[in-house]
Amino acid sequence: MHPLALATESAEEHAEAGHPERPQRVAAVLRQLETRGLRPRMLALPAREATDAELLRVHDRTLLDAQAALAARGGGHVDADTYVTPGSPAAARRAAGAVLAALDAVLGGEARTAFAAVRPPGHHATRDEMMGFCLLNNVAIAAASAFAAGVERLAVVDWDVHHGNGTQAIFDADPRLLYVSTHAAPFYPGTGHYRERGQGAAEGTKVNVPLLHGAGDDALLAAFERVVVPSLERFRPQLVLVSCGWDAHARDPLAPLAVTTDGYTRAARLVFDAAGALCAGRVVVALEGGYDAHALAWCASALCELLLGDEPAPDPEPLHPPPGPDVSALLDAVREAVGLVR
Ligand SMILES: [Zn+2]
Repeated sequence: MHPLALATESAEEHAEAGHPERPQRVAAVLRQLETRGLRPRMLALPAREATDAELLRVHDRTLLDAQAALAARGGGHVDADTYVTPGSPAAARRAAGAVLAALDAVLGGEARTAFAAVRPPGHHATRDEMMGFCLLNNVAIAAASAFAAGVERLAVVDWDVHHGNGTQAIFDADPRLLYVSTHAAPFYPGTGHYRERGQGAAEGTKVNVPLLHGAGDDALLAAFERVVVPSLERFRPQLVLVSCGWDAHARDPLAPLAVTTDGYTRAARLVFDAAGALCAGRVVVALEGGYDAHALAWCASALCELLLGDEPAPDPEPLHPPPGPDVSALLDAVREAVGLVR
């Protein structure tokens, strides 16, 4: 079995002048994987478009129709931040398809882990609404596909700086999916309070860690050690999907957290070690946000090095942000809310 597969989609025709969510993001990741000599060591997966049937497991037809209609009119905005071009619907389907190819490689036993370096991102897209740069919810589509393939319990770990409101909402009443998110608060999109725990039979399967502005490596790692990993251990997923945003990085131009490349890498190691113990290391990582090219590049190469079993190369231009706020009381409250302490 291959240790790590790679699926890519840079969605060149989904672009708007001056917008931070642009094709160069994926290009920066791929260039770094080449430079570090990692790409030839990864199993390259062929691209494909997600099918209607795959998309309709999590999205309403109205979303697909609205997307297609806007594209047919020459494109435009669905909100202040989220644009559609004539090529966006096909590009978004290829991004979702790349995550599905990554999933298939892992479920089929071709690869133990897979990284999908894709855009546009997905975790804000709800069942019926595009928002927050997201046109289709790539990770939710993959999760639904995994369930359709017979997976009974899976976890989504979302370390993007923004709360994945779309993924949480789509699976809010589904006890088969553990959703664990670390994100900045107060911040876009405004959801992700730790009292949001899932509905009905799924109560306790949605776990939110809203981090105060300025939080950095210490806060992130404490959240992973005290909340994310214990949640995984309690849930015992058969597969871990990662909504991998690198926009909590101190270099990121859009967000208020101060995580470093090393902090992100240590958090990733905690998740991959837990997956190794719980589900034979089966992990599918899908790119979400992250708008600084240097941060994207070095976080991506370190992540792939971890998954290949290498010792990750350190960021050659590390930042040393000031120590952030103490989050121990917050983490106590989160653990209490989701029943990790009785
Ligand atoms: Zn984000």
